[in-house]
Parts: sequence; structure tokens; C-alpha cells
Amino acid sequence: MMDPSKLLRPTELGLYCEAGDFFVDPWRPVPRAVVTHAHADHACWGCGRYLTSNEGRRVLQVRMGHEAIVDSVEFGESVDLNGVKVSLHPAGHILGSSQVRLEYRGEIWVVSGDYKVEPDATCSPFEAVRCHTFVTESTFGLPIYRWPSQQAIFDEINAWWRSNRDAGKASLLLGYALGKSQRLLSGLDPSIGPILTHGAVEKLNRAYREGGIDLPPTAYAGTATKGKSWAGVMVVAPPSAHGTPWARKFAPVSTGIASGWMTIRGTRRRKALDRGFILSDHVDWPGLLGSVDATGASRVLVTHGYTSVVVKWLEEKGLQAEVLATRYEGERDDGGGEAGDLGEGDLGETITLGEVSNEVQIALDGEGESETEDDA
Ligand SMILES: [Zn+2]
Ligand SMILES: [Zn+2]
Repeated sequence: MMDPSKLLRPTELGLYCEAGDFFVDPWRPVPRAVVTHAHADHACWGCGRYLTSNEGRRVLQVRMGHEAIVDSVEFGESVDLNGVKVSLHPAGHILGSSQVRLEYRGEIWVVSGDYKVEPDATCSPFEAVRCHTFVTESTFGLPIYRWPSQQAIFDEINAWWRSNRDAGKASLLLGYALGKSQRLLSGLDPSIGPILTHGAVEKLNRAYREGGIDLPPTAYAGTATKGKSWAGVMVVAPPSAHGTPWARKFAPVSTGIASGWMTIRGTRRRKALDRGFILSDHVDWPGLLGSVDATGASRVLVTHGYTSVVVKWLEEKGLQAEVLATRYEGERDDGGGEAGDLGEGDLGETITLGEVSNEVQIALDGEGESETEDDA
């Protein structure tokens, strides 16, 4: 009989629940996947069946294709998968993002997926769920990451847009197509000027609006032609649009990016970026520690990010903590590709809490120019 303290284990295909014969956020196609959210490093194309939240069903279907078989449940509703009780609870990361609660023979696990505890008008707020074992991400698991208030950031963005307009320029705001873009849109003040979007963003806006999320009016910028005046227009696009002919046609344009990495980077290492705004859909350091506390978990397994730093911190607080190796990538929305360049867990393996300044330096040095479509 399976040991319930090993309710999930990493395999070649992903995190496997043997008792229930399913995977949580597998990285390869499997027959049965329980999916926390639709970002590419958590939702793998080609699975036999997906289980996700009702709130997330549309965006997952858009991402996985119309052929994909997507089952969905309400937050908090339990389903029985071969004797394992499974329920989904809001993670506050993007529309529909869930934590997965597993219960088997009295043992309770919660897998956070990606999560944040800051307010976000475009998804249900994070709910702490009591459990024995909590699986947490650690994308921003260093004490230097503490998010400013969302309203302060939205105010900065709107002030930047207004001053660009007054200077006769367009504003190009970069953020990941799924989640970050819609959160940015929810904070824009449409009285400043018209809002245009990149096609990748507009496609998901539609899914968000169909899901009942209120976004300001937007228009697809695809048909925009060169030579027209774009003064005062706000354009929201994924980071991969940066530096492309498509982006250049909005000239004269001021370009900004919204990312948690702006905490340490500012804009100084990014060519031709005028502004960096600190806005992340991942949990910051105080949020991570507070969430671990709120679960009451005695054991914490730490995935993608500064895994070993977080493990060490939790151990010092008397918890049982371990690194859980996964292929999740964390936030790559500035196109810097930390996770890609440095590898999941690489930093955490060699850095201790006393060496945080070195870590920041390594993160800076590790910045590459790779672009990826996903994860805000
Ligand atoms: Zn992730
Ligand atoms: Zn994500």
C-alpha cells in the first residue's frame, strides 16, 4: 500500500499521485492531468483529460486547443479520483489559477501552483488551505522581494501614460499575454486615451471578458499602419513584441515593462526600455512566509525559484522543508529568462541566506535575451 506521506512524487512525466493515478501540472502529456493554471510550464499540451477550475476553463481551452477534453469544478468542490479526494482553491495568480488539495487516508497535501496574495481584479483571491504538506513556488523567495501596493504601481503607470501623451508619444506597455496583460488593463485609466492590444493579448481578453472579468475597452492593434499618429495611445503587448517592426511603428513611443524583476533591475540592463514597473503575479517574500504559516503545514516542499534559500529559512523556523525538483519556470515576463538561463533550482543549490547580495548579482549577470510566451 502506498505511503500517504508520499502522496505526490516527481517522475519523468511530472508530479504523480500514485494512489489516484493522475498528475498535477505534468510537464509531458499524460492520460489524466489536474492543472493549476494555463501557463505553459504548468499546462502541458496533449494530455488525455484535464481537470481545472470553472473559472479557468476558458483560458485553458484557448491554450490547449478546442480538441482538448477539459473537465472543470467549482472552487471548493470535491471530486473523487480513484479514492483520492481532490478539490481546487483559488491561488490568486491569474484567472482560474488554483491550488490543488489532495486528501488520502487522512493525509492532506496542497499544491500551490503559482500564487500571490496581492489584490488582483482579474481573478479570485488566494485562499490559504490547511494541510499537512504544502508545495510552494519560490520564484521571488528572497527577502529583497516585497511588492509595493498595486495601486501605487497603477498610479505610476497612468502618470507615465499621461506624460507620454502630453509629449506627443505613444506608450508601449509589456506584460505577459495571459494574466499580466489583463491585470495591467484592469488598472489603466481609459480617460487618458485609447487602448490598443497585441493579438496575443486580445485573444485572451476575450476569454477573460466571457468569464465575467471587467476590462476597459480595447482594440486590436494588428491593423495599425505606419505613418499614422499614435500620440496618446496605450499599447499593451507581450515582451516578445519588444524591438520588433510591429512595435516600432508606434514611434515616437516610450516603452515600459511590468515585472517583479524590476525590483532589482530597474531598467538599466534593458536596451531601449524607458520604464520598469514592479508588478508580479507571484508571491513575494512576506507573502510566501505568511502563506506557509496560514496553511499550518508541518512539511513544506519548495519548487521553482530560490528553493534552497526558502528551505533553509523554513528549517530555521522548525518546519520540515525540502526542495522538490520540477520543471516549472517561474516569472520570465521581462524576457530576461532567469529560470531558463540559470536552471530551476540552480541558484538555490549554492546560495545561502547570508549571501543574498551575491545572489542578486548572479541574477543580474544571468540575464539573457531569450523570450518566452508565458508565465506572468
Ligand atoms: Zn510557474
Ligand atoms: Zn504561472
